[in-house]
Formats: sequence, C-alpha cells, structure tokens
Amino acid sequence: MDYQSTRSSIKASPVEAVLKGLAPDGGLFVYPQIRDLDFDWRSCVTKDFRSQSAMILSALLPGFGDESSIIEDSYRGKFENDDIAPTVRAGSLYITELFHGPTSAFKDVALSVLPRLINCGKKVTGSESETVILTATSGDTGKAALEGFSNVPGTKIIVFYPSEGVSAVQKAQMVTSSAENVKVCAVKGNFDDCQTGVKKAFTSIPQNLLDRLGKELSSANSINIGRLVPQIAYYFSTYSHLVSDGAIKTCDEIDFTVPTGNFGDILAGYYAKLLGLPIGTLVCASNSNSILTDFLNTGVYDTHREFLRTTSPSMDILVSSNLERLLFHACGNDTEHVSSLMASLSDAGSYKICFGMLSAINHTFRGYHASEEEVSDTIGRVWKDQHYLIDPHTAVAWCCAGKYLSDSGSVRRMAVLSTASPFKFPEAVLNALGQEPGSDDFDLLDELSRVTGQQIPKNLASLRTASVLHEDEVSPEGIGDYVISKLKNWSKE
Ligand SMILES: *Cc1c(COP(=O)(O)O)cnc(C)c1O
Repeated sequence: MDYQSTRSSIKASPVEAVLKGLAPDGGLFVYPQIRDLDFDWRSCVTKDFRSQSAMILSALLPGFGDESSIIEDSYRGKFENDDIAPTVRAGSLYITELFHGPTSAFKDVALSVLPRLINCGKKVTGSESETVILTATSGDTGKAALEGFSNVPGTKIIVFYPSEGVSAVQKAQMVTSSAENVKVCAVKGNFDDCQTGVKKAFTSIPQNLLDRLGKELSSANSINIGRLVPQIAYYFSTYSHLVSDGAIKTCDEIDFTVPTGNFGDILAGYYAKLLGLPIGTLVCASNSNSILTDFLNTGVYDTHREFLRTTSPSMDILVSSNLERLLFHACGNDTEHVSSLMASLSDAGSYKICFGMLSAINHTFRGYHASEEEVSDTIGRVWKDQHYLIDPHTAVAWCCAGKYLSDSGSVRRMAVLSTASPFKFPEAVLNALGQEPGSDDFDLLDELSRVTGQQIPKNLASLRTASVLHEDEVSPEGIGDYVISKLKNWSKE
C-alpha cells in the first residue's frame, strides 16, 4: 500500500508518510485508492470506539504493528470517560463531545495516537535518529501535542504559537509544560504567519546538518496523515451511538457539522464517507474568517482579506492546509492540477477551481459561517433552552447546523462535533451568559463554574499554580534559526 504526494508521483509507505509528515515536494501525503478499499463499515459500526479505531488504522495505516495494542496504549488512562467520544442529545441535534481528554480539546483524540505511531514506525524502519516534532498551533494543537509527546523516548517537540491569538488559558497550558523534551516559543504575528514559518523551516534546514546531529524532523499538525486517520473513528462511533439510540437504522444517512479551521477534522469525516459510512452532507462551519464558506459557494479561494481575531481562535485561519487533500480527491488524483492551484495560492494568494470540481465537492460539503454575535447568542440560547454549556467553537458549528437545516430542509439526523471544553474559553462564555467577567484569567474559571454549577476540568484547574517555563519569542523569519539552535543544544546534552 502506497501513499503519494498531492503534488507529484512521489510515493511513501504508510510508515514513511507518518515519519516524514510532509512530502519532500511540499505536498501532503494521501492514499489515492481510498475509495476502492474494501472496508467492512457495517461491522465497524457495531464495535466500540477502540475497536473502531484499530480497524480503521489497520485499513489505512497498516505496517506499524498490532493495531489493537497501539490503540490501547494510546488511550489508556488518558480520557475522563471510558467512551472517548460520547454522543449526547440536545433538542433535535446530536452532539459528539470530543473534549474529555488531557487538554480539554478534540485534538487529544488524534495526538494520543500519533506519538505511538511515530515510535512504532521508527522500530519498523530501524531508525536511530531522534525525531524532532515541529508544530505550529492556533492554540489547541500545541498543548495536545506537548501532552502526547511529553517524555516519549526518542522524540523532542518544539511548539510555535502566535503571540497574537491564543486564549490566556491556552497560553498558560503551553508555557507551563514541564517535560524534558519540549520547547515552546511565541511567534510575532498570527497563526498563518506561524504556520507558514514552520512549513518553511521544514524545507530550509539542510539535510546534512540534520544527519550530522542525528535528528529528523516531523510534524504533529494535521498535515501529518497520522493525525487524520485516528479522527475518522469518531464519525463511526457517533453513527453507532445514533443506531443504538434508535434514532436511525443502519444504512440511514446522517449529516455532520464540523467547526473547521485547518480542514483536518472535516476531512476525516470525508474519509469516513469514502470508507462507506452513510454520511449525507458535511457542513463546514467557519467563524467570521469565512474563507471556506466563500470557497464552497463560489469555487474561489482568496486569501486577500483581513485576518479577524475571534472568540474561536482555533478556527482563525486563512490558509487551510488540508483542503489540498480534498482538491486532490476531487479532481481525480491529478497532481499537476493540484500543484498549479497551490502555486497560484503561494504566488497570487488565490486560486479558482472549475465548475466540475466544485460540484464534486458540493456533493458532500456545504459551507456556512457564524458571526461573533451569532456565536455569543448561540451559547446563551443553548444554555437557557437546553441547560447545555458549549464553547465558542462548538457554538459556531451549532449556529451553522441551524442555518444548513433551515436552508436545505434536510430530514436526516444532524450530529455536531463539539471540539473544546467551555472552560478553555471562559471569558467569551461568561460574556455570552450575560455575566461581566473580571480580568484575572484564572478567576474566570471559578466564575464560570459558579455561574453554571459545572466542574472545572482538572487539567485546567491546576494551571493557576503552575510556573511559567517558556518565554522565548521569535519573528516568523526567525523560526528556522531558532530550530537549528535548539537542535544543536539538544545534541550537546
Ligand atoms: C483545531 C480546532 C478546530 C478546527 O479543526 P481543524 O481540524 O483544524 O479544522 C476546531 N475547534 C477546536 C476547539 C480546535 O482546537
């Protein structure tokens, strides 16, 4: 089984694809024949989350070792609930709660698995060099990756976060990380500056320097296929939950609304559909950075617009990396075409796809966006009507699900992915509940707990007393040099 780059015929085994993260031509690794896999989705929906994950792993990322034990080791003792991704009902919607992991955001689901894949992959290739993970974060990936890789032998991790743009709680989670093998660095600018700088570092750091230092670089961002594949499982588990709830019969189609930033989470839903899971529409929910909504409506992807900072910072993104994978699948695996679109994106800041490709995409995807006011109203309304507390990212999706349902008149069941605990964004949530939050970030957590009667997740409650251990800051252009200096320091130890 071969993965290949979205931009050329460069091939890689699943193990190589995960260890490299990004293809050497700058493309992303994809499995071109995913539609033709003979995946027994009917049997998959009868299983529990862990078995579903193992089954998906062995179909899409074989060759790492025994999938069931990889999954067991990944999740053991990490999540609050035995069910990693519980589905609850609120009014006419189903909500899949993905935030019960060690950092209270959905990225824990995949970032619990990726370090094991990297470790097992290195055993398979017999690689002796140390893997250094470089990660750009819009807030939640950073801590989830630091947690996932913390003290994993043979790995180091450097996380870059935009100095303008993560919430106070998100920042505190990262800069208090105490594991030996981690570094955290602020980047002057927004998430796109940060992500572009990190992508450049991958191609600019000379291979002979890495060889000399005994290091290899990889990524924990959703550009790594090892991040995407574990996410497919919760689309299956949500479907199973709806079947056992009696809401649907096996084979009925359901829709999902996914709060979207880098397009990784929703792409995992598309992969679930390509594996056979009966999914009708995937609603791509954006905040006021509505570039994906416009793209899905017009076929034009245009980054010439203001980057807006919102209360859902993990979705404040203008360049959604994983869209490249969708383009590849939607144009019949035409790597030349994808390359030319990506060249246009980097040269002109925009591209336009043809009508045929857009209709292929619209067959599954619809785009909606929610304004800041709508997000706040949604949090307040859902709390008042259902006594259910949601964070701003989930509120974006909730609001967009409503817009899609009233536009389309769809009679299918709708599941909304809930991607973060409301306690990660206490200020926005308190405002939405009509409170006047004070200014101390940690008092806000107590206040939210008091107002709602809900408990602060343990990992967030302990932040108040944790010491700040990381204070580095660089410009986007300085990322490459920063990485090199850390690599050299680590080699001296
Ligand atoms: C990362 C993130 C998203 C967006 O997911 P993508 O895979 O980047 O589209 C949504 N909500 C939260 C809370 C996140 O952390």
